[in-house]
Amino acid sequence: MKQSIMKKDNSEGPPCKHMEHLLQGVADGSVKGLRKWFVLFHVTHCSHCGNFLKRLQTMLSVMHDKKDNLPPDEALARLKLKIRNLESESKE
Ligand SMILES: [Zn+2]
Repeated sequence: MKQSIMKKDNSEGPPCKHMEHLLQGVADGSVKGLRKWFVLFHVTHCSHCGNFLKRLQTMLSVMHDKKDNLPPDEALARLKLKIRNLESESKE
């Protein structure tokens, strides 16, 4: 019988199925009020969802280019890259 290894900090893995949509909503700001609190409460005791939310927020903050934190050159480079990605997507 194969025994699964229980990691102490088992934070890698998919988020709870029923939470995924809400987590995305919280990350992009479309989920507010009570539902947001519900999600934030959930992530405090669910490491999968917590990590998922963190990854989403990191992704979104890169996409939104916090301009005051970025040197103009880098912001411009990212913008160009983003436009190039959009162009290659719309070709399909
Ligand atoms: Zn969860």
